[in-house]
Amino acid sequence: MTHYSAFRLFIEGLRDQTGWTRAWRDPPPKPAYDVVIIGGGGHGLASAYYLAKEHGIANVAVLERGQIGLGNVGRNTTIVRSNYLFPENNLFYEKSLQLWEGLEQDLNFNVMMSQRGVINLYHSDSQRDVYARRGNSMRLGGIDAELIDREQVRAMAPILDFDNARFPIQGGLLQRRGGTARHDAVAWGFARGADRHGVDVIQNCEVTAIRREAGRVVGVETTRGYIAAPKVGIAVAGHTSHVAAMAGIRLPVESHVLQAFVSEAIKPVIDCVVTFGAGHFYISQSDKGGLVFGGGLDGYNSYAQRGTLPEAEHVLKEGVALIPILSRLRVLRQWAGVMDMTFDGTPLICKTPVPGLYLNGGWCYGGFKAIPGSGWCFAHTIAKDAPHALNAAMTIERFRDGGTIDEKGAGPFPWLH
Ligand SMILES: Cc1cc2nc3c(=O)[nH]c(=O)nc-3n(C[C@H](O)[C@H](O)[C@H](O)COP(=O)(O)OP(=O)(O)OC[C@H]3O[C@@H](n4cnc5c(N)ncnc54)[C@H](O)[C@@H]3O)c2cc1C
Repeated sequence: MTHYSAFRLFIEGLRDQTGWTRAWRDPPPKPAYDVVIIGGGGHGLASAYYLAKEHGIANVAVLERGQIGLGNVGRNTTIVRSNYLFPENNLFYEKSLQLWEGLEQDLNFNVMMSQRGVINLYHSDSQRDVYARRGNSMRLGGIDAELIDREQVRAMAPILDFDNARFPIQGGLLQRRGGTARHDAVAWGFARGADRHGVDVIQNCEVTAIRREAGRVVGVETTRGYIAAPKVGIAVAGHTSHVAAMAGIRLPVESHVLQAFVSEAIKPVIDCVVTFGAGHFYISQSDKGGLVFGGGLDGYNSYAQRGTLPEAEHVLKEGVALIPILSRLRVLRQWAGVMDMTFDGTPLICKTPVPGLYLNGGWCYGGFKAIPGSGWCFAHTIAKDAPHALNAAMTIERFRDGGTIDEKGAGPFPWLH
């Protein structure tokens, strides 16, 4: 496989780009594997990569019903950060952020990691106290966090409305190491990396049933035939509850629609990520110049990757309240993805009641930033048949046992819908 480097670019330029090889193979499914991962999104591909790289388990297939990169991994707004309140989450997301920081060298692939800083704005004294608490919790875990005042926010993001805002900005919680990465490059980078270690990335192969014998998983039925495997990992994001049901498991997960928007390209106006504290709105600027922004869930359960106009209107209203110049811009593109929401806003990376079946899901709004850390922990859980300390609390049983990790209730808010 071609090693990507500046020297290689130079050589290929001289010989008319004829020496590049495929980034990953397109193998037919084998009858049996040591591990099958269902879902070729960011989490499935990263899990396969770390299974091979960290645990030497390379007889692995990633089964993707469509093409890799077309699910949520290619539909999100690309924000990476580790600014969570509870140690069960912030230490996990910090591991992920640290993996992001070395990912390009590790994968030999440009994922366009840009640590441009993430600011969560606060608009009242009580909100400042909440963010101070969150920042303190992060710092106790060794994670960078700074509480900044209004003038410091103005210096970093002058296009926000500081003069006549409906919800005046008082300051923000800043994580300088947070930022963005290129979404589909992450899928391609992990696919290429996994393939390099011998993993089969199999596209157009939908899992239609999970076969069990004497209660144990023995393989999966697919649209390309039966594939045997003593260990099967589910990493299908918005379809988590649907696929888990194939093994008779009912999960505390709802699927909801989340939209994203990109404006026409303009000169650089904002070089950090900003989240609105008085509504659900966040924004950054892409390398092409488009303003990339999003907001809350659509508010009803669906598997349609479209989104509705009332929520689009709501997001744009919140955006204009924070950044009035947005009202002069045209929205070029809008799309949606299907989110697998747990009720406490914390994911699931765990064993299941079915021996040999492992679960990775419940990513809510935030699974992009989690991709390297989640893959790393899920690979550990599958390889050792036991969780790593970083994902030990992310079980299904926490809902039964009252051990929920209520990350400011970032779940689906079922009472609102
Ligand atoms: C609009 C939007 C904005 C977002 N913004 C952010 C953000 O800024 N930061 C952040 O951290 N997170 C963000 N997220 C969340 C993040 O994108 C997701 O949590 C994460 O990508 C989900 O994991 P994945 O990449 O593995 O999912 P996916 O890419 O959806 O992968 C799952 C795959 O499983 C496949 N699949 C499903 N069923 C089957 C089957 N039966 N057989 C075989 N394959 C199957 C699907 O085709 C899909 O490709 C956002 C999401 C959306 C929609």
